[in-house]
Amino acid sequence: MKFTPEKYHIPDEPMKSFIDVDEIWNYLNAIQPTKERVEAIIAKSLDKQRLTLEETAALINTKDIELVEKIKEGARTLKERVYGNRIVLFAPLYIGNYCMNSCQYCGFRSSNKEAVRITLSDDAIVKEVEALEDDGQKRLILVYGEHRNYSPEFIARTTRLVYSVKHDKGEIRRVNINAAPLEIEGFRTVAEAGIGTYQIFQETYHPDAYKKYHLSGKKADYSWRLTALDRAQEAGIDDVGIGALLGLYDWRFELMALVRHTNHLEACYNVGPHTISFPRIQDASELNISDEYFVSDGDFIKLIAILRLAVPYTGLILTARESEALRQEAIRYGISQIDGGTNLELGGYQEEKVVEQDLNKEQFQVNDNRPLSEIVEKLLEDGYLPSFCTACYRRGRTGEHFMEFSVPGFIKRYCTPNAMLTLAEYLCDYAQPEVAVKGWEVIEKNMSQVDERFVEELKSRLQRIREGERDIYF
Ligand code: SAM
Ligand code: SF4
Repeated sequence: MKFTPEKYHIPDEPMKSFIDVDEIWNYLNAIQPTKERVEAIIAKSLDKQRLTLEETAALINTKDIELVEKIKEGARTLKERVYGNRIVLFAPLYIGNYCMNSCQYCGFRSSNKEAVRITLSDDAIVKEVEALEDDGQKRLILVYGEHRNYSPEFIARTTRLVYSVKHDKGEIRRVNINAAPLEIEGFRTVAEAGIGTYQIFQETYHPDAYKKYHLSGKKADYSWRLTALDRAQEAGIDDVGIGALLGLYDWRFELMALVRHTNHLEACYNVGPHTISFPRIQDASELNISDEYFVSDGDFIKLIAILRLAVPYTGLILTARESEALRQEAIRYGISQIDGGTNLELGGYQEEKVVEQDLNKEQFQVNDNRPLSEIVEKLLEDGYLPSFCTACYRRGRTGEHFMEFSVPGFIKRYCTPNAMLTLAEYLCDYAQPEVAVKGWEVIEKNMSQVDERFVEELKSRLQRIREGERDIYF
């Protein structure tokens, strides 16, 4: 798939800043769309074409309740068309919370003397991963503070360690990373360990607001962070994740900037971000943020629906920062990945906890505390297909290749069957009998969503899983 780059005040060049604050505000201040215009934009998106900044601004500025409902309805339809019923599941694993930065919103910041600092030992990492595998997890995101101890070599080594842990039938098949920006060479080192996505959130794309929250440490350099994923791309990491931390600045600006960042990566590397995250700030130890830019639930859902329409092929992640009720609602409007069974305490997944749970030991508060088993059960009850699939990245369908495959037919041919195969493994190995019954029913119901040429082969593979074979995928 080729992209036609849009024309902006700041032209897109690799590893150069691309955010023009006035340009974004000009779009937001100028555009008051008519009903017909909003409907035409929704129709364009349903035709699976990515929206321009101007079109995104038009949806953001839509206030009429009925039209906002149309935007949400459009997002729902698009989500079903592009992603089917699948919801991909993962868990975060905090490796170390030493940090040299002082982000005003984060419990791990260096100035927070109350924070209990820990870097997991190799032994503790193995125990954590075993506990996660025992729950049925297959995809992890490893999280690190920004500290000289967490060098590219350290990140690569801990990634390999995680991949090496095989407990009973468990194994981790995809390790994503959320850590500090690196030099190109550093990204190369990490890439060689076989990571999936490298995720870095800009936090706020507004340079002045950014300055206010990032007073010291390397993270104070806005441009170094903004161009980080360009360096990752240069190093050969073509699955990258972007994000904004909502509550630091106006959400409308951040949403436009996320789309602008997507355009930038497409223009320079012919591949947009693999995922977009938009966490809302949660309570944290010594939190030091005013509520001036607090994002209400209503605006948050509207933002998710607009983002779904603006970037139809990009995965949208919603973490356990949000409550169960909000996550259930947001899933309908375009979320494609959620975490389950999340524990942010360092060492918190093991049965014998390294430390007692309290906010001084976690980065921020989690609001959906359900174990993975409960999340899977609820998804099944709501008719979703919980997926632990890691096939694309292991088959080399990443980056540009992944975009090529994200075309009509791909979901029916690969994603839905692979979701079923990984769910089947989960049902055989980890689910309670009553959940397994619900799971097999959902698999059966979703057979009509599979390309009919592959149904027989899929059924035979599902049978092989029932008989004990593992890790078969299309
Ligand atoms: N230290 C690295 C960094 O800052 O990019 C990576 C890990 S950091 C622990 C992961 C993300 O957590 C940050 O990028 C930020 O968006 C988010 N975060 C920090 N404080 C938060 C809070 N109070 N509520 C919600 N999310 C928060
Ligand atoms: Fe450190 Fe990351 Fe927290 Fe900032 S957000 S204080 S860099 S762990």
